[in-house]
Amino acid sequence: MTILKILGYGNPILRQKSKEVSKISKKIRILIENMLDTMYSANGVGLAAPQVGENLRIFVIDVSKENEPYNPLVFVNPKIIKKSGAICVKEGCLSFPEAYINVRRYSDVMVKALDINGRPFVTEAKNGELLAYAIQHENDHLDGILFVDHSRNIFEATEALSKHNLPQLEEDKLINEPELEEQILASENADKAKEQ
Ligand code: ZN
Repeated sequence: MTILKILGYGNPILRQKSKEVSKISKKIRILIENMLDTMYSANGVGLAAPQVGENLRIFVIDVSKENEPYNPLVFVNPKIIKKSGAICVKEGCLSFPEAYINVRRYSDVMVKALDINGRPFVTEAKNGELLAYAIQHENDHLDGILFVDHSRNIFEATEALSKHNLPQLEEDKLINEPELEEQILASENADKAKEQ
């Protein structure tokens, strides 16, 4: 079992675009095993290769609950092939210890990827479940995009980052998501109307 060092926000490797894996060699398999060990030891839900210093298109996720058996999911060369719906979720990231920030995400995604044996598979996650936004969060890491770039409230994000002594938002990286924002606002207004 090898625990790798997780790079923190501010490290330029986290902002680089990662390369496709051309062959799942023994070295790649070992990297994946080590990424899983590292994710579990940090109590994370997901970990992308750039976070351990490798700009390769690989991420791992485990959304099983504490009382459930481990269910490691490995995604090599993933591609999100369908996305729809919108949700606001509070996310964290192992590269941003203890900072949780509201971000915009799609509620439904379909992703295709290769597993650790190089076999292609397709996974679907729906209704804003944890797996749906974990896939988007980890897939973003492969393109140098970080969850704070999807912040819904810049003031809240700024406050959370400074509270945890993390570098500030990079304003040129913020992603404008008017369609997602519109859908989120519409569902929040519908919830409010129900409460009244
Ligand atoms: Zn992350």
